[in-house]
Amino acid sequence: MARSFVSRLTGSFSEGAAENPTVAMVEAAYRHHDLDFRYINCEVPPEKLADAVKGARAMGWAGFNLSIPHKVTVIPHLDGLGESAAVMGAVNCAVAHDGKLIGENTDGKGFLQSLRELIDPAGKTIVMFGAGGAARAIGVELALAGAKHITIVNRDPKRGQTLVDLLNGKTKVKAELAVWNGTYAIPANADVVINATSIGLYPDVNARLDIALDGLRKGLVVADVIPNPPRTNLIRDAEARGCRTLDGLGMLVNQGVIGVKYWTGVDVDPTVMKRKLEEIFQA
Ligand code: NDP
Repeated sequence: MARSFVSRLTGSFSEGAAENPTVAMVEAAYRHHDLDFRYINCEVPPEKLADAVKGARAMGWAGFNLSIPHKVTVIPHLDGLGESAAVMGAVNCAVAHDGKLIGENTDGKGFLQSLRELIDPAGKTIVMFGAGGAARAIGVELALAGAKHITIVNRDPKRGQTLVDLLNGKTKVKAELAVWNGTYAIPANADVVINATSIGLYPDVNARLDIALDGLRKGLVVADVIPNPPRTNLIRDAEARGCRTLDGLGMLVNQGVIGVKYWTGVDVDPTVMKRKLEEIFQA
């Protein structure tokens, strides 16, 4: 059989690319599944983004991730958006399809896939800390998945209100803001509590959310987006009180699995990707 020496290309465009471990995780999956794909991690400044996208089109890339600072500014360079990316106004994954580049957002989808291992968000009452990019992606996916009520708990009221308005205006969920200016008491009717702030991210590993710990009652689902380290103080406190927990590594891995599925059509083994990330974060 004739052998092809041309691999399909995928990759990432961002600034600060050297700190992004996604390439190692995705390439581990490509190798494990014998996929003739490569993932190229590219440092792309804002003024070169248009050329980078044109280059990817010219070379027939199967798609690429977008990270800071390109998630919003890439949109005019694409040919269309998936449903949740359109609601969020942010893209972290471009997918080539029939000669077009479609923008998707896998941040929230990866979270949702992890969450579904513990609970179906449909009809549930959610408390989410944070109103930045991660919170926006998660909030929109939860709303599109049929969550009943989301309380956004955020320090900056303006940023919090912007996310609340987006959710109330563009989805069917009922969202409200709780300004976080003291110790927050988790309401007794909450089904799921999510930390979507950067509190606990390396190197600030001893940081704690300012919450009343007795609100972490037995059986509550508590999720943290922080992938490094995955065992944050929130996860430890929640486990100690009998909550069901989800760490940020699962979200990161599932996001990779979803991206690779978009580009290759193959469902890759998440454990291969997870093992690679654990190896990297422990180093
Ligand atoms: P942003 O900078 O967009 O938002 C940060 C959020 O954290 C804001 O709501 C901010 O509140 C809040 N925050 C930060 N520090 C504090 C503090 N000391 N007290 C209270 N609130 C605080 O960041 P992103 O949303 O892009 O990312 C957030 C985290 O999500 C990051 O740590 C990132 O690693 C993680 N992440 C994980 C992913 C995964 O796959 N596991 C994917 C994407 C992100 P305010 O508005 O008041 O400033």
